[in-house]
Amino acid sequence: MTNAHMPLTSEEVAGRPSSPSDVTAGLMRGTELAAEVVAKAADRAQAFQQRTGVQPCLATVLVGDDPASATYVKMKQNRSKKAGIGSVSVVLPAETTTDELVAQLEKLSDDPAVHGILLQHPVPGHIDERAAFEAIDPGKDVDGVTMHAFAAMAFDEPGFRSCTPGGIIRLLEAYDVPLAGAHAVVIGRSPILGKPVGMLLLASNATVTYTHSKTRDLADIVRTADIVVAAVGRANFVKGSWLKPGAVVIDAGYNEGNVGDVDFEEARQVASLITPVPGGVGPMTIALLLEQTVDAAERQNETVQQAEADLT
Ligand code: NAP
Repeated sequence: MTNAHMPLTSEEVAGRPSSPSDVTAGLMRGTELAAEVVAKAADRAQAFQQRTGVQPCLATVLVGDDPASATYVKMKQNRSKKAGIGSVSVVLPAETTTDELVAQLEKLSDDPAVHGILLQHPVPGHIDERAAFEAIDPGKDVDGVTMHAFAAMAFDEPGFRSCTPGGIIRLLEAYDVPLAGAHAVVIGRSPILGKPVGMLLLASNATVTYTHSKTRDLADIVRTADIVVAAVGRANFVKGSWLKPGAVVIDAGYNEGNVGDVDFEEARQVASLITPVPGGVGPMTIALLLEQTVDAAERQNETVQQAEADLT
């Protein structure tokens, strides 16, 4: 959804104000951009299946009976199906050990019919989550959770991106937000969201400041940001008074009751562009997952073909 595909509404144009006090921020519509990304992934999935006779396939692994996690997995399976991507569902009991989960993930990694693997996060507390993530073959890590994926993002090398950070960058690009030289403040440093989004912003030549629960004077630091990424997990945490007028605000948070990490009503009076919750970052996460599953299928097929060609 570059502007050529989808012109900014007059409200969104007005959301880049010379005088920010008299207008509200434009919305960065993740739902619409995600629909475009998924439509392209679906076309590629269909072409792949016609070419190879094989349907791209995402394996989802759910451990335990957390209702929110079960809902997320179901949603990802439904969206996969709609996009012509097959899915394999593995549901393990809450008392699954790290070794058992690792063995399951290794089995899926070795299965040629599975192209992408998603381990729903978080896993029950007794499991070594890092060990489980690292059991996923990096070539099938379509959710971008392995150290390999993190290193690829950090070194700006090809590889799968963590889906939410990758989706955030795509949103910023689609809305022509200048990244080079911009000061981006990331609030949160989790391995799947805060840290990788900072790495991707850095790779786009932003000047990145990471903040977290031990950061002093957080509001003052946020006030210096051209771009704010809120990835905290606390409802309405970022206040409008923390924002520089005209800042671009990405609210990655998703808290109970469809509430983001940014006080939307306050922030909208100050920011130039802002992602709504819901309908901002969330849909982009699933869109990237599906896109990367098709990428994985294509890459694995190329590898097999190359190996066959090498034998002849
Ligand atoms: P997380 O692992 O709990 O990390 C939260 C981060 O926020 C930590 O780095 C923590 O700092 C920091 N933090 C906590 N309190 C803070 C404070 N008072 N001041 C500054 N920083 C503070 O959470 P996550 O997995 O990154 O998720 C963050 C949010 O994004 C949640 O709302 C989650 O639901 C949402 N999310 C959305 C999507 C999506 O698809 N839209 C995907 C993933 C996550 P420390 O490191 O110092 O503890």
